Amino acid sequence: MANSLSIKHGLSLWCPQSVSANRVSRPNCFAPLPTTRRSYVVASASFANENREFVIVGGGNAAGYAARSFVEHGMANGKLCIVSKEAVAPYERPALTKAYLFPHDKKPARLPGFHTCVGGGGERQTPDWYKDQGIEMLYQDPVTGIDIEKQTLTTNSGKILKYGSLIISTGCTASRFPEKIGGNLAGVHYIRDVSDADSLISSLEKSQKVVVVGGGYIGMEVAAAAVAWKLDTTVVFPESHLLPRLFTPSLAGRYEELFEKNGVKFVKGASIKTLEAGIDGQVTAVKLEDGSLIEADTVVIGIGAKPAVSPFESVGLNSTVGGIQVDGQFRTSVPGIFAIGDVAAFPLKIYDRVARVEHVDHARRSAQHCINSLLSAQTHNYDYLPYFYSRVFEYEGSSRKVWWQFFGDNVGEAIEVGNFNPKIATFWIDSGKLKGVLLESGSPEEFQLLPKLARNQPIVDKAKLQNASSVEEALEIARAALLVEA
Ligand SMILES: Cc1cc2nc3c(=O)[nH]c(=O)nc-3n(C[C@H](O)[C@H](O)[C@H](O)COP(=O)(O)OP(=O)(O)OC[C@H]3O[C@@H](n4cnc5c(N)ncnc54)[C@H](O)[C@@H]3O)c2cc1C
Repeated sequence: MANSLSIKHGLSLWCPQSVSANRVSRPNCFAPLPTTRRSYVVASASFANENREFVIVGGGNAAGYAARSFVEHGMANGKLCIVSKEAVAPYERPALTKAYLFPHDKKPARLPGFHTCVGGGGERQTPDWYKDQGIEMLYQDPVTGIDIEKQTLTTNSGKILKYGSLIISTGCTASRFPEKIGGNLAGVHYIRDVSDADSLISSLEKSQKVVVVGGGYIGMEVAAAAVAWKLDTTVVFPESHLLPRLFTPSLAGRYEELFEKNGVKFVKGASIKTLEAGIDGQVTAVKLEDGSLIEADTVVIGIGAKPAVSPFESVGLNSTVGGIQVDGQFRTSVPGIFAIGDVAAFPLKIYDRVARVEHVDHARRSAQHCINSLLSAQTHNYDYLPYFYSRVFEYEGSSRKVWWQFFGDNVGEAIEVGNFNPKIATFWIDSGKLKGVLLESGSPEEFQLLPKLARNQPIVDKAKLQNASSVEEALEIARAALLVEA
């Protein structure tokens, strides 16, 4: 309950302000804890049972929340093993392009400050937590093979793990530029995990000119952080405006202006031809298709991600949205094998289509739903309401902090209300029904209204919304439409 409440209240997905009573609270989620950046402590519980009853492959967001569900069902101790590619216990990945990238003088977040389930309002699951719960953790040993008949996994180090039930939560990998155009040059970064973020920070420490490729969430968040380091920052993307998958041109224009006020430069409608290097092999510039050059000593590529399906292709992939096909209870086509989080292609019941959702809220909820179905009498299907958010410019001294949330589907006509000072809202109306809503800088009560609107899709008077003189008035119109439906 604490979890769903904190989501509905729109609290940060990883910051301890969404604190639950039983979690160790800290006064400031941005403050580093006394651990050095690269000396993560990992613990491995002793595990007597060689025939592991439950194995989770992947040590990310979904795995962390799945582990919590196993514990809640009393089915973790001595029964559950998590096999991870990373060197650290599961953490709230969104932090990596937010407070993790703050400059050193602006209290950057550091592990163990944002381990799962900090974002969902649960106890912070440090390596010791897993040890105490009797969960076996295998770090830095990715699964490289599966034998479905024998129910065994092979890991990179050569371990053979027998499983009873298998939960695949391998997430995504960042899309890369090919090596032949400079995608692997020194100074070129991709961000998917904490070691990637550490490597980027090392570059930023000695950087002067940063080019960010991509105008999506990652690009926006990295650019906002780079200007906090007082670096010359340019964002390059092929589309005509920021975050085209969600933002309308008008809304994007507001954010572009704000980013520019903070020192970010944009080169829109541009594609990268090559990344240029000096004789030392270090990136020196980004060359665009039109032949122009933008100097850079650090380049961050944020051009999307691909589901990490290997080596699980044989359990059944979805050819349209990618990823591993599951049903409404996250069962794959192979009995006893499940997939959750970013990698799962699942029935998005509310819109009657198959989807893959690369967002932390789905990682958390899919994990909980899957494990509840596996370990209890629960038989109902997952019924997810899409929810996205972003937070930028939240460091100390920032003149305008940005935090928006979106619920639903951005289909139909978009109606924008508000002066962006700081509030703004966009309502998507399709066939008279309110299908999606985005709100920036709302109060907790206002953010709480958004999922109700997107879930119930009330019929709204478009003209009234268009004429609303403030975000508050527009939300009241929508709330009233909801009450009429009820
Ligand atoms: C930088 C960044 C910022 C983000 N910001 C936001 C945000 O603001 N809001 C939001 O909603 N979402 C955000 N997301 C997306 C969100 O983090 C993901 O949706 C979420 O982490 C998905 O959880 P997951 O467990 O499915 O995958 P992940 O958290 O990616 O975990 C997958 C894990 O599996 C491991 N793995 C992969 N292959 C193997 C293998 N073969 N064997 C063992 N382990 C393996 C990986 O190393 C990783 O540890 C962000 C993502 C990134 C990368």
